[in-house]
Amino acid sequence: MAHINLNVDKQNDSAVIVGGSLSGLMTAIALSAQGIHVRVLEKSKEGERSGATLKVDGYSMGQYKLEEKLKRLTSGGKSDVQLWSSIESRLRENAHNDPNIQLHYNTRVISVDQNEESAWAETIDGHLFRASILIGADGHRSLVRKKVAPDHPDAEFAGYVVWMASILESELPSNLVFPRGEQVKIFNDENGFLFGSVIDIENEPSRIGCTWYDNTQTELLYRLGAVIGKFVHHSIQGTDIPEKDIQILGDQAKTHWPEPWRTATLHAIYSGEFIGVPIKEYVPIKLTHGRLALVGDAAHVPSPITTSGFNDSLIDAVVLGECLPEGLQASKAILGLKKYESLRLKKMQDMVESGRLFSKNFGKY
Ligand SMILES: Cc1cc2nc3c(=O)[nH]c(=O)nc-3n(C[C@H](O)[C@H](O)[C@H](O)COP(=O)(O)OP(=O)(O)OC[C@H]3O[C@@H](n4cnc5c(N)ncnc54)[C@H](O)[C@@H]3O)c2cc1C
Repeated sequence: MAHINLNVDKQNDSAVIVGGSLSGLMTAIALSAQGIHVRVLEKSKEGERSGATLKVDGYSMGQYKLEEKLKRLTSGGKSDVQLWSSIESRLRENAHNDPNIQLHYNTRVISVDQNEESAWAETIDGHLFRASILIGADGHRSLVRKKVAPDHPDAEFAGYVVWMASILESELPSNLVFPRGEQVKIFNDENGFLFGSVIDIENEPSRIGCTWYDNTQTELLYRLGAVIGKFVHHSIQGTDIPEKDIQILGDQAKTHWPEPWRTATLHAIYSGEFIGVPIKEYVPIKLTHGRLALVGDAAHVPSPITTSGFNDSLIDAVVLGECLPEGLQASKAILGLKKYESLRLKKMQDMVESGRLFSKNFGKY
C-alpha cells in the first residue's frame, strides 16, 4: 500500500460511486437528496462517452417524489425515445449544480474493498477514496460485482447483436417520409427485428433511430473479439467492420427492411455511423455485501427487448436513496443497504428472466 496517495474523503456521511454513466449520476442525485455527500468516479473523460437511443418511461406515476423528478429530468418531459447523450447531459448538469456531488472524470478504479468502518476505491493513479458506503454503478462488466457476488461475477452473451444508429434526417433523401406521431415502428422476419423511430428533440435536428436485433452475426462477433467464449468484451464500431461483412449487412437490410427505414439503415451501414452491441444478460443473486451495493447494469443486465434496463436503474437509484433516510452513521448504512436488497432483488430477477425467455428462442451461438 506504500504507493497509495491517501488523499481521502474523510466525511462519515459520504458515499463513493464507481461509474458515472446514467445509473451513477441518478444514484448520486438520489443519495444527495438524503443529505449524503457523494463522489462519483468515472474512468472516461467528461462528455466523451455516447450511446444510441433509449425508450424512457417519462410519464408513468412514481411512488416517490424523486422518482417523478428523475423521470421528468431524463425524459425531458416526454415519454419517448431519447438520445442517450441528451439524458446523460441533463443528469450531468444536474449533478454539477448539486453541492453534495463531486464528479471525478478520467478516474479509473482498479480495486474496491471494505472493513468494519468504511469502504474504499483505489484508482489507477494511486488515490484512495474512502466513504461509509461504496456503490457499484460500473456497468455490465462491473468490478464491484466481483466483490459483492464473487461466485457469480459475470454477465453472459445472449446469442445476438443489436445494431444501432441515429441518423440525421437532413442527411437522407428529402423525398423519404417517416411516420411521425407514433412511437416506434417494428418489423420482423427470420433475420430478426427492426425498430424504427423518429427522434424529435426541441432545438435539435431530427434524427431517425434504427435498432436491428440480428442473430445471424455471431461468427463475426467472435472473429472481431467482441465476444470471447461466453463473455462479451466490447461493442463494435461500424467503421471497424471488414468491407465484406458490411456488404453482407447491406444486402440483408436491402432484402428485409421496408422503406423509408431501408434507406436509413443502408445510410448508417455504408457510412459506418452505427454500433453493434453484443447482448449479454445477468440475473442477480445478491445486491449488497456489507458496505458495498450494486445499481443499474452492475446489478442486473436484461436483454434490451425488455426496455427495462434504464427504467429499472432509475428505480434502483430512488429506492436506494429511500432506504438511507437517516444517513450512514454506525449500523444505519449496512441496514439501509440490506433493506434496498430486500426491496429490489426479486423484481430485478423477474425483469431479467422475462428477457431471457426471448433470448433463449432468438439467440444463436
Ligand atoms: C442496445 C441496448 C438498448 C437499450 N435500450 C434500452 C431501452 O430502450 N430502455 C431501457 O430502459 N434500457 C435500455 N437499455 C439498457 C440501458 O442502456 C442501461 O441499463 C442503462 O443505460 C444503465 O446503464 P449503467 O449506467 O448502469 O451502465 P453503463 O452505461 O455501462 O455505465 C457504466 C459506467 O461505469 C464506468 N466504469 C466501468 N468500470 C469502471 C471503473 N473500473 N472505474 C471507473 N469507471 C468505470 C464506465 O465507463 C461507464 O461510464 C439498452 C441497452 C442496450 C445495450
